[in-house]
Formats: sequence, structure tokens, C-alpha cells
Amino acid sequence: MSAAVFVSADEVWLGGWRGASLLRIDGNRLDWVAPLAAATERPTFHVPGTIFGGFTDSHVHLGLIDPDLLVAGGIARVVDLGGDPESIVALRDRGRVDASAVAIEFAGAFLTAPGGYPSDRSWAPRSSLREVATPQQSGAAIGELRGLGATRIKITLNSNAGPVWDDGMLAAVVTQAHAVGLPVVAHAEGPGQAQRAARSGVDTLAHTPWTERLSDDDVAHLAATLAITSTLDIHGYGDYGADYATALDNLTRFVAAGGRVLYGTDLGNGPLPTGLNERELVGLAAAGLDAAGIAAAVVPDVTSLDTRISWIPNISTDPAATASWFASSTVLAVASLKELFA
Ligand SMILES: [Zn+2]
Repeated sequence: MSAAVFVSADEVWLGGWRGASLLRIDGNRLDWVAPLAAATERPTFHVPGTIFGGFTDSHVHLGLIDPDLLVAGGIARVVDLGGDPESIVALRDRGRVDASAVAIEFAGAFLTAPGGYPSDRSWAPRSSLREVATPQQSGAAIGELRGLGATRIKITLNSNAGPVWDDGMLAAVVTQAHAVGLPVVAHAEGPGQAQRAARSGVDTLAHTPWTERLSDDDVAHLAATLAITSTLDIHGYGDYGADYATALDNLTRFVAAGGRVLYGTDLGNGPLPTGLNERELVGLAAAGLDAAGIAAAVVPDVTSLDTRISWIPNISTDPAATASWFASSTVLAVASLKELFA
């Protein structure tokens, strides 16, 4: 059981398409070895179709959903972007030891200005907020969240729903997070807030900007400085209007300008499917992402194939059906591949 096993697959995504490949299973790890045509070892069995690192939803709220449904729904990994940190830590710890549970990274509590969004929202418990007015307070909050295991810091800049930090405080928060190795994800909403986030050094927007049409110059600046988490489908859940159209237009120009897109749904916000959302994938394709672009969006950080993979039983051949092709994926534990395919 402990000896490594070599397997072949028709196609592998590892930040790029690798084609027919030889891979090695070692316990619950899967490693890419070589193109199949150049491999010297013989595969023990064949995995038909396409292998990816586990598909990731880069914007969820675990406190508002049933995390046990995610893996069966096609999502292997999630990034929680706001909730009670202690309860998220408990879920994350389970995902570390149980390959059938979802793998979790998290931001923990929202950092916001005193009285700022989402401090007035019924879905946001007090424990999910750190209202900070000074760099001393934000530094303490960032240190606390980092101590709990947060892998990024979530901030809110929502001038439509309350006060936001001034430029000096915003820059201080971003600098403090970066100084301890944590990227910053911003909820930017209201005139000019996405542009402020980009100027301050924010790494990722939690949503495609939807409250205004960005100028081409602003889109170019965003594309050069930060990534955008898509969250298109929350603007109507299939029954779309002006907000969806504005977001899709902004994202389409961001993609054309070379910007980096992350698949994210804001799961927990309204009637979204608890798993991979085909409507969000349709939105990514509409914004101009091809199969490689969507693969990069759903597998943002995975450079190895450990523990959990996403698998599609064939290879992509129809560019017009890219979204439905990704939606046909299944999350598999690496340890189960032999049982499934040998
Ligand atoms: Zn959210």
C-alpha cells in the first residue's frame, strides 16, 4: 500500500495544459511526472479525461451555508471571506484531516471603519467584525486573525452603506497586512472605491465592481495591480438586470486587459447552489475566458495535486460548451483513484 503507483491521464491542468501525462500516487499525494510519450515508468492504470487541482470557490461565507454539501457539489477548496473566526477554524481543522471534507482557507473577521459595512447587517454577527479607527487598532486585529491562521485579510470599502476609512488609514491597513505576509481582499462598493482599493495596494477585489462602469484607464490600472473575484451570479441568480450587465462589462474589459480572475460566488449570499455554480462559469465564459482562463480561475493557487483533485471524464473539445464542461466535474480524493479506476 505504501509504494508509489504510476498512473496515466489524458490531460492534466497545472497552471497550463500538460497533455497526456504520467503521474505518481504516493499516499494521498498525486504528482505530475512527465509527458506520457517521454515517460520511462509504466502506468499501473489509466485515469480517462482531465485532472485538475481541486476546484476552489474564492469567496464563500461558511457560517451561512452547509459546508458538508460542498465536495459533493463539485467544490474541493474554499476561501472564507468573512465570518466568526473561531467557528471557521474548527471547520478548517476538520478539512485538514478528512480528505472527504472541504479544504478551507479564511480571512476571518471583516475589518471595517467604525459603523462601516457590514456592521449593520443581520447576517454579520459581532464576532465577525473588527471595527477599527486607528493603525494601532487595525494592527492588533490583523495580529489576532493571523494568530488564528487567517491567510488573507478582508476589508470593506462600502461608501453606499456607511463610513469608509480615509486614504491614510486604508494605506496603513494594507501595509500592516503585507508586513506580516497576508494579502488583502477588499469589498469595494460605491463610486471610486474599487479604484481606491487598487491605489492602496489591495491584492484582490471580493467582487467584480458593479456599482459603476469603470473607465478603460481604471480597468487597465486594476488589471495591472490586483485580481478580481467574479461573483457575477449574485446579481439576479440567473434573472439578471443592470447590475449584472455593469459587472459583466467591467469584467470583460478587465479580462481583455490581461487581468487575473478568480472564480468566486459569495456563497451564503442568496439562493446560490452549494457547490460549483454553472451560471458563474457561464458568466466567466461571457467575460471572455476560454477553457485555460476558466481553469486558472477555478484552480488559483494549486501547483501540486495533493489530497483532492477535480476530474472531468473527457477532454475539452467544444469551446462553445466550456462552462458546462467544467460543471461536469467531480471532486475525488487522491486516495480513492486506484479503487475507482484500476
Ligand atoms: Zn461575501
